[in-house]
Amino acid sequence: MSLLVDAGHVVWIRPSTDEGDLPPDVHVIDAGGSTIVPGMVDAHSHVTLPGGSHWIDRGADPPEELLAVAEHNGDLLSRAGVRWARDVGSPLAADPRDGRRRALALRVRERWRSDPKRPMIRVAGTWIGHSGVLTGGLAIEADDGPALLKAASTQLDDGADFLKLYLDGPKKEEAPWSTEDVRAVVELAHGRRAKVTAHSGFLVGARVGIDAGVDSLEHGFELDSEAVAKMARQRTFLVSTLAIFRSWASFAQTTTLPRFVSDEGKERIAHRRERAIESVHLAYRAGVRIATGTDFGGGSLRANHLAWEVEALVEAGLKPWEALASATVRGGELLGEGKAGRIVEGGPADFFLVHGDPLTDPTALWRVWRVAWLDG
Ligand SMILES: [Zn+2]
Repeated sequence: MSLLVDAGHVVWIRPSTDEGDLPPDVHVIDAGGSTIVPGMVDAHSHVTLPGGSHWIDRGADPPEELLAVAEHNGDLLSRAGVRWARDVGSPLAADPRDGRRRALALRVRERWRSDPKRPMIRVAGTWIGHSGVLTGGLAIEADDGPALLKAASTQLDDGADFLKLYLDGPKKEEAPWSTEDVRAVVELAHGRRAKVTAHSGFLVGARVGIDAGVDSLEHGFELDSEAVAKMARQRTFLVSTLAIFRSWASFAQTTTLPRFVSDEGKERIAHRRERAIESVHLAYRAGVRIATGTDFGGGSLRANHLAWEVEALVEAGLKPWEALASATVRGGELLGEGKAGRIVEGGPADFFLVHGDPLTDPTALWRVWRVAWLDG
């Protein structure tokens, strides 16, 4: 195939035997043997955090450090073919310009808006969770309905594009809020044209989120057939993050941390991984729309690991081309960005070139040769 780009847009896509007369000043790039892939969408990311085996500790690093981390992540994302990142939580920190405590990723969004080499991002602000669940000081805590509603409203006032609720409670077997409390937040957000997503590690929280009408569930590590059937009916998105279990399994060899190297730890991780794969498989079979993300920063992956997640989705039963769709067009649908994750005539030249065929082999996504928005 041949593809003509002008001023950052795709002019046409044609068989290379049918190019016709090319513009006189055209610069021809011989991409022989490579495959054109739409710029991907990492639908679950944390741009201000670095990831790695000490990912939780890194959240407490000083804001200047985390803003530098974000720039490195921006580089890694682009080089890996990721054009869009959906940031689902960043620490609260004082903004040096006005002293207001706001989610750090809001500043990153501002910085990157004017830089075409950086990913385009949508930002959830900070996590909203029940006390006793998230590391102190980095997130907003809300222990009842009114506090939850106030936290949600503050995030939107700060400029968050959407809201991120943390639906795991202090007790594993109880959701942190009632369905009515969460529904009130959904109504508030929708009234202000913002969406609501929810972290869901356990079934009890997932049920509350689904019943309350959240727009998407993150992780969904413990879903059952009833939950996925309702998600499919309501068109609730699932954002899968299965590769974190692959990452943790690798730490059994590369770290000395007991939770990864002990027999007990390995067994616990293997069990959770199995249950999580089953959940995604159930969602897939039920026809739930599945977008996907690395959870880099908020989990242990790094910003250039989205290919790992596409591989993990294939393990959960998606065809390779469906898994690639989760990392491209489905992510665009979730963001409400119709042009994200697609290559069309007249659309932005947001694509990259890999070796191999990602429609049949997800590992091809690791072999990036050239990125249009970086290399021209
Ligand atoms: Zn996360």
